[in-house]
Amino acid sequence: MAEITLKALAHTYLPDPRSPEDYAIREMDHVWHQGGAYALLGPSGCGKSTLLNIISGLLEPSSGEVLFDGEVVNALPPEARNIAQVFQFPVIYDTMTVYDNLAFPLRNVKTPEARVHERVMEVAEVLELTAQLKRKAKNLTADEKQKVSMGRGLVREDVSAILFDEPLTVIDPQLKWKLRRKLKEIHQRFEITMVYVTHDQLEASTFADKIAVMYEGQVVQFGTPRELFERPNHTFVGYFIGSPGMNFLEVTSRDGRVMAGDIELAVGQGVHDAVAGARSTHIKLGIRPEFIEVHDAPVEGGMEARVDHAQDLGTYSIVYLTLGSIALKARIEEDQVTPTGKAWLRFPDERLGLYVDEYRVEIDHE
Ligand code: ADP
Ligand code: MG
Repeated sequence: MAEITLKALAHTYLPDPRSPEDYAIREMDHVWHQGGAYALLGPSGCGKSTLLNIISGLLEPSSGEVLFDGEVVNALPPEARNIAQVFQFPVIYDTMTVYDNLAFPLRNVKTPEARVHERVMEVAEVLELTAQLKRKAKNLTADEKQKVSMGRGLVREDVSAILFDEPLTVIDPQLKWKLRRKLKEIHQRFEITMVYVTHDQLEASTFADKIAVMYEGQVVQFGTPRELFERPNHTFVGYFIGSPGMNFLEVTSRDGRVMAGDIELAVGQGVHDAVAGARSTHIKLGIRPEFIEVHDAPVEGGMEARVDHAQDLGTYSIVYLTLGSIALKARIEEDQVTPTGKAWLRFPDERLGLYVDEYRVEIDHE
């Protein structure tokens, strides 16, 4: 088992990279601690698979180091790294039985047959494959094949870490949920470092204690699901996490007022000072749909907005609003009145995030 450290790591697939955009991994430092259950979350193409392949040794990074427990492993081939990797599509031997597929990684490292049997039975039980053990892998359904593929990743006890690269893509939704719970259970039982790649925030937060959000080849935030929700470090995290994502308003400071286009925002002195003090012209205020106060009558400090429509989602509604020329989404709970025509909005200061050049900057509320 190991702590995995990435030091000044960067990777490009191009022979002659010229700009940051040419890098699939832009220079990064990151630590996956021993025994953690982590998710690596980001949209397609942001570099997730590239990063996993570098950790497992399938890919040599263009620069930087990979360390396991402080030892540089760049020169070690995948089989010497003791890492199990589960891919998006099943990797199994079709002509072998399920039992032999699961036993393979153990027999490969000369595990005594009695121990092989114990582990295969244990893993088969967890993945509910016991009834299929004698079947040839080629006769399995896609779901079953992927379970075998996962089992092959889980069967060895001596691995430093298990990397899952969107392993549930081909699995049907109901089973997906069940397998995710299983993985969590397995993690708790064996305390192996696990990195689970996904582009689905729900999948990430049900599996992981801590999520690394990746965007354009960089980890832009590493935090608990709650931290990502409450204090997104980057506008991308605000937008990507939450449903719907965070609202962002481009703002400027003019004559002592905070303006979003032609609209003056009702914000406190602390927010104003932070906007006025920002050393960039690229300034945004972010607020989550959950935290916009929506009133159906004028209130003190309320900003008048147009209600475009509301979407009733049972226990809550999403209200689509326009403030000046800015589109906003607000979430209101079922016990609240859904306004029609006009609404009066308040942004509680402590719920506003200030983003300068896309990164969060602290606001001093005094
Ligand atoms: P993800 O797994 O997050 O979808 P990838 O790591 O597969 O992202 O890809 C990151 C970037 O690197 C993408 O722009 C992709 O097109 C590019 N890329 C991935 N694999 C290769 C490859 N073998 N050769 C060239 N470019 C690649
Ligand atoms: Mg991928």
